[in-house]
Amino acid sequence: MNAPLRLYNSLTRAIEDFRPIDPAEVRIYTCGPTVYNYQHIGNMRAFLFADTLGRTMRWKGYGLRHIINITDVGHLTSDADAGADKMEAAAAREAKSIWEIAAHYTDAFKVDVARLNITPPAKWTVATDYIEPMIEFAKTIADAHCYQLGSGLYFDVSTVPDYGRLARAATDVGESRIDPIDGKRNPQDFAIWRTSPPGEQRQMEWDSPWGRGAPGWHLECSVMSRIELGQPFDIHTGGIDHREIHHPNEIAQNQAHCGCTDAEPGFTGAKLWMHNNFLVDRGGKMSKSAGEFLRLQTLIDRGIHPLSYRLMCLSAHYRSELEFTWESALAAQTRLKRLVQAVEKLRAPPDKPSRGTPDRYREAFDAAISDDLNTARALPIVDEALADKALSPADRLALAAEFDAVLGLELTTITRADLRVRPVDASIDEAGIEAKLADRREARAAKDFMRSDVLRDELIAAGVEVMDGDPLGWDWRL
Ligand code: AMP
Ligand code: ZN
Repeated sequence: MNAPLRLYNSLTRAIEDFRPIDPAEVRIYTCGPTVYNYQHIGNMRAFLFADTLGRTMRWKGYGLRHIINITDVGHLTSDADAGADKMEAAAAREAKSIWEIAAHYTDAFKVDVARLNITPPAKWTVATDYIEPMIEFAKTIADAHCYQLGSGLYFDVSTVPDYGRLARAATDVGESRIDPIDGKRNPQDFAIWRTSPPGEQRQMEWDSPWGRGAPGWHLECSVMSRIELGQPFDIHTGGIDHREIHHPNEIAQNQAHCGCTDAEPGFTGAKLWMHNNFLVDRGGKMSKSAGEFLRLQTLIDRGIHPLSYRLMCLSAHYRSELEFTWESALAAQTRLKRLVQAVEKLRAPPDKPSRGTPDRYREAFDAAISDDLNTARALPIVDEALADKALSPADRLALAAEFDAVLGLELTTITRADLRVRPVDASIDEAGIEAKLADRREARAAKDFMRSDVLRDELIAAGVEVMDGDPLGWDWRL
């Protein structure tokens, strides 16, 4: 595909031409979930974005090595080293071991990844599998860049040039939120290693030159990305919150470790840093600390198919904030049904030769996604291509499959019936609905409209919306 791929780089705050270090293998690292709880649908937006990026690389003909980590140690309730350890707190809350907590929420996360048709990475790197290399990494930077306090080994951010360049002005805001830790030289200094408080045994702790304890959260991503991808690699991704603390800290560690800031002033570990904007919910249901929050399962329970949520995310640019509402989720579901129905129709009719060329759709789609992954602009091109009667059904079907390699909506494999997700509170099952609908058709054929209306009311009472004459060809929707 010919359009030059252009991507927004958070480091320069500009859209840049993408030139892979090695076209045979574009290397991408994505900060993964902290497995102390279920992921909310906002978190899943971050992985949908990273998946769209990876799929676009393949569409452009590049090879790909994508790594996503699983954070099972080190992440405190504040990104800036304050508060309780998220994993320890969850273990206490649920009266389970940390390892059970990590296993349970890692599995749940992977279920959601599969439901959303997110391509699994080349490797899920689990932080606790990398403790030794983390200690080795820390040893190489300890003398020149760190200092020890009672609570651990801290990184002195004044020892690297240009600390916080990624965060820019937002760093000042970030600082005011950072709880002071006695003895820190700079407010933004962060823990490389946290030693266990005397007399307190943590469930997860290891011996190190700085005492028994656990690694800081930022350390793990520097170490895993370096080991799995080499540095510099092509692209580092995460949610926009990581632009303020986590990624500036990773960059500082990378600079300290390679010691090559003078020779290569722009060296940060990755060539591009990309961040997705947040999914927001006015009702506050996107915050795990606030109690009840929106999970993918919550959507399914309300009758929303996971791929409808995927389409909802694709309908917005990844750098725009996206507001979640039930109406927008339902609208996405309707849009997906229309797409799936358009594809279904292409399978049935006898093939006619195309009178035009599908290339212009390919090019338009390519131009849209090559423009900083503009999926919002690419989607109407899909609609247009599928509806273009000048193209043979076979050509249109082929386009749908090609586009879907980027969109990941399973357009050529799911059916409208798959998209009928039964809400948990539904009091009637599919067979019951079909039986009532058959009765109703009979009543209508016999012009018994009273009975037909009674049956319709019964269906409505059971939460079934009967759609007479629906252009989508749907008889009902729960
Ligand atoms: P966590 O499990 O908290 O480490 O977060 C996993 C990923 O989700 C990170 O890349 C976060 O930046 C991202 N993230 C957190 N909240 C949201 C949100 N509301 N919308 C989009 N991405 C988010
Ligand atoms: Zn990370």
